[in-house]
Amino acid sequence: MTDKTAITVAYGDGIGPEIMTATLEILHAAEAGIELETIEIGRRVFERGFSAGIEPSAWESLRRTKVFLKAPITTPQGGGFKSLNVTIRKTLGLFANVRPCIAYFPYVRTLHPGMDLVIIRENEEDLYAGIEYRGTDEVYQALKIITRPGCEKIVRYAFEYARAHERKKLSCFSKDNIMKMTDGLFHKVFDEIGADYPDIMQEHKIIDIGTARLAAAPEQFDVIVTTNLYGDVLSDVAAEIAGSVGMAGSANIGELCAMFEAIHGSAPDIAGAGVANPSGLLHGAIMMLVHVGQPEVAETVHNAWLTTIEDGIHTADVASDAHTIERVGTDGFAKAVVARLGKEPLRFRPARYARTERRKFQMQRVERPPAHKELVGVDVFVHVRFISPDDLAGRMAALQGESLKLTMVSNRGVKVWPEGMPETYCTDHWRCRFAAAAKSSITHRDVIDLLFRMAEAGVDFIETENLYKYDGEPGYSMGQGE
Ligand code: NAD
Repeated sequence: MTDKTAITVAYGDGIGPEIMTATLEILHAAEAGIELETIEIGRRVFERGFSAGIEPSAWESLRRTKVFLKAPITTPQGGGFKSLNVTIRKTLGLFANVRPCIAYFPYVRTLHPGMDLVIIRENEEDLYAGIEYRGTDEVYQALKIITRPGCEKIVRYAFEYARAHERKKLSCFSKDNIMKMTDGLFHKVFDEIGADYPDIMQEHKIIDIGTARLAAAPEQFDVIVTTNLYGDVLSDVAAEIAGSVGMAGSANIGELCAMFEAIHGSAPDIAGAGVANPSGLLHGAIMMLVHVGQPEVAETVHNAWLTTIEDGIHTADVASDAHTIERVGTDGFAKAVVARLGKEPLRFRPARYARTERRKFQMQRVERPPAHKELVGVDVFVHVRFISPDDLAGRMAALQGESLKLTMVSNRGVKVWPEGMPETYCTDHWRCRFAAAAKSSITHRDVIDLLFRMAEAGVDFIETENLYKYDGEPGYSMGQGE
């Protein structure tokens, strides 16, 4: 038996305490080498006035153990409360969300009996940075943040995961035909890092057709890596069509810490009734055992669970007349799994986990020399109501000065001047692009002078974005139709 690993556990809300008790009963019976530290999170902590649902002292345990087995919590309704999951992910740097989506046919209803895939979702960036603005009366915006280190970490992790779990293919999903810079970077990094993994088949799919293929024929996929928002949607689609929303677990992995949980919520409608299915949390716990270097125990527990399902011992949420022999509650299910420890399933493929050392993922940050950066213009966003593109361009061109010339006006990304189309719908939020005259570079002072003239003329500029070239390549997108 390996040395005991300290684990932080939280029993959560609703069915949380019931399914955590059942899960831990199974882990203890399987002689998992774990030592528990319990913290409180969720409803009662929110009610004590901690808006994130976790007390400062709980962080000490998480920092110490670096491994968190978490039951679902109830997020209070109404404003002022932060998502505990987002807080934990960001605070502990849990950059990868790993969600296996597996069909357990015929015991769990599904249209895709052969489905067995893993979605690896980037967890910290993208639109989830939560940087949003209202710029004008009519226009709101959110910043989509994609970073090179963020892409490198998640893509490298996905390839390492595929290799460690003997998966054959890694598919990258993005929308780089539209977002050429942000999603383009994700795709580019996938291709770059993929060169180090010739043993793994690689493909890229545009997210829309990729999702459609996933919904129609999930057997075509093995492991998928994608950015935060796409991954959020995709992983729910995949869990739903696998039929296993109530049974799936997920891992949130960081370089230092990791968190494991069920994908379902606290199910207040059945809390306290002793009928909840503990399988989702148990699957999270199995991933945790692999993570802490106890693949043998993970395998024993997983195979006992598969055998229990095969033997027709089911909780109410999956029970059916055709395949259920005994309907059990949470505790009865846990006892059935314990009774099968050491057994291997006959119908399902037995679970196997490679006997590797504790899987620690540490990313070497590649120090690249900075690019040659040249300021070549500025986009000034202005709030102007009831004006035609030509009139606005006339007003802006009068302020352009010697070093910066107005080259384009766009509205919602579409070029409306010069040579706009009268059909294009315009809001009160305009982008005025000023480029360095005579293809030379400019200084920040030129931008400030332009803004000064605008302020003097009473123009309501709401945002500016400097235009740079990096090693001669534009670091900004063209206007649509430019
Ligand atoms: P839910 O997943 O809790 O429940 C949806 C339905 O599935 C309910 O009918 C429930 O009874 C059933 N169900 C869920 N888990 C089950 C299980 N293990 N066994 C049997 N049946 C199960 O989703 P919801 O009702 O939308 O959310 C309830 C609360 O959970 C909300 O406060 C929500 O914010 C929270 N939530 C928390 C997490 C988390 O902590 N990770 C995730 C999702 C939702």
